[in-house]
Amino acid sequence: MNIILLGPPGSGKGTQAKMIADKYSVRHISTGDILRENVRNNTPLGVEAKKFMDAGQLVPDSLLIDIVKDRLAKPDVQGGYMLDGYPRTIPQAEALDKILPSLKQKIDVVLNIDVPDNELVRRLSGRRMCKCGRSYHVAFNPPKVEGKCDECGGDLYHRDDDKEAAILNRLEVYKQQTQPLIDYFNKQGIIANINGAAEIPKIFEEISATLNKF
Ligand code: AMP
Repeated sequence: MNIILLGPPGSGKGTQAKMIADKYSVRHISTGDILRENVRNNTPLGVEAKKFMDAGQLVPDSLLIDIVKDRLAKPDVQGGYMLDGYPRTIPQAEALDKILPSLKQKIDVVLNIDVPDNELVRRLSGRRMCKCGRSYHVAFNPPKVEGKCDECGGDLYHRDDDKEAAILNRLEVYKQQTQPLIDYFNKQGIIANINGAAEIPKIFEEISATLNKF
């Protein structure tokens, strides 16, 4: 089963993605994680991408399309995958539509996680991340020891793009560049709308009810 996860920053995509990957044995492919790893390792891609990411802007399509093309050709994703954070623009979705047939793949379902704006800002500004991929919230989901990851003990950090000016920019970018994808996938008849304003387990229940049909 191949899945696309669509949802604004702060919609809980990352949290749900981990739960989906565990239950349905699909590979989690997060373009944000791939880019952050490149930034950490100071690769040429990372150096280029960082300028855009820190400002809450999208990294140019041309860079992302090649990353995804390479990733989807790897053996470990042939049993099923979930794209998280890609596509984010219509040209990225069109590029994906071209890549998939050459890999003999198709997308089965697009999960669109919907959350009101004020809730997104509240969630993002308190978010703290660990480099192992787990995320916390200072008020709603704090770690057991302040500043440390429950799972791996790593230091938690506040993403530069989770600071207020960048958050507002990311939400605006989402509306302008990513929201048109809802229409795009609606026309393909593969979208499932999920209420992302609910509690984490409730959201996962709704997602599971959709995925169990495949
Ligand atoms: P995320 O972790 O998905 O919120 O991504 C963090 C940042 O990485 C975004 O704000 C963008 O700057 C960049 N990014 C991730 N995925 C994409 C994509 N598909 N297209 C363009 N930029 C992306």
